Amino acid sequence: MFCPQCGHEIQESAAQFCPECGASLSKNASSKSKIVAILLCFFLGCLGIHRFYVGKVGTGILQLLTFGGIGIWALIDLIMLILEKFTDGEGRLLLN
Ligand SMILES: [Zn+2]
Repeated sequence: MFCPQCGHEIQESAAQFCPECGASLSKNASSKSKIVAILLCFFLGCLGIHRFYVGKVGTGILQLLTFGGIGIWALIDLIMLILEKFTDGEGRLLLN
């Protein structure tokens, strides 16, 4: 297989990331950074900032208005992010 980003040939078919450029090879992976989303959720989760970051603007506004579901919704999002179950606005998982 070849990296869709840089065209580098990848020997290991199970590889999740291109060893050359670091691009994610999973079709279900988001281009957004998991670490950035976790940090945003941790520090600004009650304002829904991490949802704006991943493109979930609608629920981001909802979260902003409810203060992250009084913290509970933001906490669930944080756990989902850590467990790599959180998806971006296009339904792709935040993995890297
Ligand atoms: Zn590459």
